[in-house]
Amino acid sequence: MSESKKFILQEQDIPTAWFNIIPAMPVKPAPMLDPASKRPLTAEDLFPLFSEEAARQELNFTDSWIEIPEQVRDLYKIWRPTPLVRARGLEKALDTPAHIYFKNESVSPVGSHKLNSAIPQAYYCKQQGVTNITTETGAGQWGTALSLASKMFGIELAVYMVKISFNQKPYRRSMMQTYGAQVIASPSMSTRAGRKIITEHPNYQGSLGTAISEAVELAMSTPNCKYALGSVMNHVALHQTVIGLEAERQMEMAGEYPDIVIGCFGGGSNFSGISFPFMRHNLAGDRTTRFIAAEPASCPKLTKGAMRYDFGDEAGYTPLIPMLTLGHNFSPANIHAGGLRYHGAGAVVSQLKADGLMEAVDIPQLETFEAATLFAKSEGLIPAPESSHAIAAAIREAKRAKEAGEAKVILFNLSGHGLIDMAAYDRYFAGDLANYDLSETDLTETIAGLDMVPGHE
Ligand SMILES: *Cc1c(COP(=O)(O)O)cnc(C)c1O
Repeated sequence: MSESKKFILQEQDIPTAWFNIIPAMPVKPAPMLDPASKRPLTAEDLFPLFSEEAARQELNFTDSWIEIPEQVRDLYKIWRPTPLVRARGLEKALDTPAHIYFKNESVSPVGSHKLNSAIPQAYYCKQQGVTNITTETGAGQWGTALSLASKMFGIELAVYMVKISFNQKPYRRSMMQTYGAQVIASPSMSTRAGRKIITEHPNYQGSLGTAISEAVELAMSTPNCKYALGSVMNHVALHQTVIGLEAERQMEMAGEYPDIVIGCFGGGSNFSGISFPFMRHNLAGDRTTRFIAAEPASCPKLTKGAMRYDFGDEAGYTPLIPMLTLGHNFSPANIHAGGLRYHGAGAVVSQLKADGLMEAVDIPQLETFEAATLFAKSEGLIPAPESSHAIAAAIREAKRAKEAGEAKVILFNLSGHGLIDMAAYDRYFAGDLANYDLSETDLTETIAGLDMVPGHE
């Protein structure tokens, strides 16, 4: 292991505004639709579901910068600004001329980037007197972040946790309970959506889509209760831009600018967070950085999905979102990167991908664990299985740079640490992990019946 170099900002350098990429997009995303009337949604339509401010941010197509409330910025100071690290150990292990940097979002109290959005979402709920929040969680990272954020503002939280993770990742459940949240394995008998799925498929191990249905149903039927989502939505991507805004200044300190920016991809929030601030310079015509989203080969919405109007959840309670999707009934293989097992991509990222302003790669599970162990041995940090997809993509690019003899500057986001995912590493060491491939027929079935998005027929 060789010495890595860190670039550290001060508290006063935490951004004062989030960056909203939508006004700069050459083609705006199509509007979200009301599923019954197929009418474009207004912010007011979302008020029953989300906090009013989150709803307004969701549909803000005009303001490029949105001020971070002072109380939110103060809470960010608990762990932000996060370090930017030159991964000299990894460079050496790969014997590459590329310069590899990573933004370390794993240093948050909950171990991932998710707290960047959990805090403002809980804050906006508190501002309007909300007493209860419901949410879903896949691998448990979002649920953990929102448990802490809710506790910070004295709000009660109920978390529907995908059943397979509830059983595979008991410590993430313990963390949520430590922060005082109620955790329910999904599908559960506590909602209509959950009871329907259990009745039809008694052994169903759950999915994010199902858990979202349950959380939304509980929020809509409980007074003074809102729902909060940890990815996919525009306002979540917006909050995550603190990552890229800090990284931009840190790259300046390093005296470099990235040729390639990489983030792993579940619904798009950490990828958006690291990418959008750099992408604004591409959109302004000043830079030609490549942006790469790294998704699992078993859940490849960006590389193999279709642009359709689809629900964010399985039961169809959410608005229709114009997204690159595998279909809301798509049931991904039980890979260990639970946070990436989601059927669709957010509307903004979907449009950027369709317009060729970013790229995507899909990575088989075993390659992600190879990348993770190489990274751990050379940099000391044990990455989350989700983040390992970004590392694997960065390694592919560093190898390509070596073949071409080019000193490319590569920046990736380390979205979280893997210290609560060691059971997955154990299975990798025991040779129990497999790659999963998708057959074309799976997809035509799950996409059939979804409406086309205008401009993407
Ligand atoms: C949730 C999660 C992801 C995936 O979600 P995005 O919204 O796509 O960022 C990636 N990494 C970690 C550590 C996560 O917790």
